Amino acid sequence: MDSSMPSTPHASAYPIGKPGQVWGEEEKSLWLNKQVIQRSYAEQVLALILDPASISANTADPMETTATQSNAHPEITSALELVHYNTLAYNTLHQGASDYPVYLFKSRHWDETKPNVLITGGVHGYETSGVQGAIRFLRTKAQHYCQHANLIIVPCLSPWGYETINRWNPHAIDPNRSFVHDTAPHDTAMTQAKAQASKVQLSDVQEAHALMAALGELAVNFSLHIDLHETTDSDNAEFRPALAARDGTSYDNWDIPDGFYLVGDTLKPQAEFQKAVINAVNAITHIAPAGEHARLIGVPIAQFGVINYPTKALGLCAGMTDATYCTTTEVYPDSPLVDDENCILAQVAAITGALDYVIKNR
Ligand SMILES: [Zn+2]
Repeated sequence: MDSSMPSTPHASAYPIGKPGQVWGEEEKSLWLNKQVIQRSYAEQVLALILDPASISANTADPMETTATQSNAHPEITSALELVHYNTLAYNTLHQGASDYPVYLFKSRHWDETKPNVLITGGVHGYETSGVQGAIRFLRTKAQHYCQHANLIIVPCLSPWGYETINRWNPHAIDPNRSFVHDTAPHDTAMTQAKAQASKVQLSDVQEAHALMAALGELAVNFSLHIDLHETTDSDNAEFRPALAARDGTSYDNWDIPDGFYLVGDTLKPQAEFQKAVINAVNAITHIAPAGEHARLIGVPIAQFGVINYPTKALGLCAGMTDATYCTTTEVYPDSPLVDDENCILAQVAAITGALDYVIKNR
């Protein structure tokens, strides 16, 4: 996200491309060839959401198990049905990558009197607690909340990003700027060069468009959408310099906030709702204090622990629906005060805090 704060812009020192020049296919290919599979989607995600018996009954490899063959893991409530909504075809695109089946869980009995709720994780695959938090919610809390809400839970939108610990997809595109219906984000503040660089084929952002298509078919009006993310030290060390290099721009420096925060929607801030989520997470982990000039990641604080973005204009996942209440969680996993488990529990607390508020206040 670009900061509107005036500060000294940093020229890109990224090892790919030339400063000030937008990447072409050659630079994107150089970038892709540097990416390495570092962990297994099958072992760390699919093994926790699919029934091991249904995997072994068909093939030893869960990646080759298709939806029609798989059942949900027995630890996940039978009030939810497993839906295989797409397979991201990356097998031939990147060495070591696979074709990645992606799944969502949906309330089996849809009750018109209950609020409809969307929970998304792993839009940014490197943000581990977003994925593991959605899975933990599925396995420990979803059964209870199915009594009070119609749930759709998507634990990991970007499996290749999960395996390569990456913000972008293999086409060097950020899925969380790609929840749009045409080929360019609607960011009017963008420079022409940047807008050009951001122009993408919808088919090149399968992570976003597979889910948009699946939800479009379901035609659900949501009361709540919560999208699970992290802000990490690698954002400053790798991903922001890479973004500036790709788009031939510079970037403003800011400190990574030490603690949890939320990103609401500028057009529907829902202050009381955001406050309820912050309070729920505050019982588990520390909330980020405002940084310099009362900002977090360069954006003015709207309220304690909350900044707002124009989510639809920026093509963010949180702007994908017209939900009355929407928020994006930002867990800080690199804080000396937290560990992996605390980050997962913070995500679960954000989900349950949001659900409790919406169930009570609809
Ligand atoms: Zn993120």
